[in-house]
Amino acid sequence: MRTVSAWREGERTVIAIPARFTRAQEKEWVHRMVTRLATQERRRRPSDVELADRARELSARYLSSRAVPTSVRWSTNQGRRWGSCTPSEGTIRISDRVRGMPRWVIDYVLLHELTHLLHACHGPEFWAELDAYPRTQRAQGFLEGYSFRAERGEDADGSAAEAAEVDELDGDELDGVVRDEAPTA
Ligand SMILES: [Zn+2]
Repeated sequence: MRTVSAWREGERTVIAIPARFTRAQEKEWVHRMVTRLATQERRRRPSDVELADRARELSARYLSSRAVPTSVRWSTNQGRRWGSCTPSEGTIRISDRVRGMPRWVIDYVLLHELTHLLHACHGPEFWAELDAYPRTQRAQGFLEGYSFRAERGEDADGSAAEAAEVDELDGDELDGVVRDEAPTA
């Protein structure tokens, strides 16, 4: 194994370390990876204000700023939906379940709801707008996989699986790479 990996499994934090690591290296890397995971999670749990700012950026970048919501908020009562939009009021709510997901998934959900301000239904015009976002299909796949796991009760706490990984280069000279997805195993 040439990498150090860390991820969450529900309440547990799992850190995979090369067998040849010394006790001191092990201790140092556990500390380093726990810190890295926490930083990553903070970055992935934007506030209401950050969410609204991000919506504005996405509208500018992909919708020529045509979608102008009056409010964008996290919401705990979205049921099985990832988000919702009330075009008549210009309000957007994003499910709390999306909050810990990778940024490109949050961006997709935001952009999807922003697009509903322009097209209420999922018609061809709606999907044509979302074609501009390069990770639309990947994000849809991520969300479908998440639902599938949740329905099977494998992720009952509702938190998204998260992982951080660093590539091991040589001895102490390890370079950090943070990954968006948990390892598939
Ligand atoms: Zn929709």
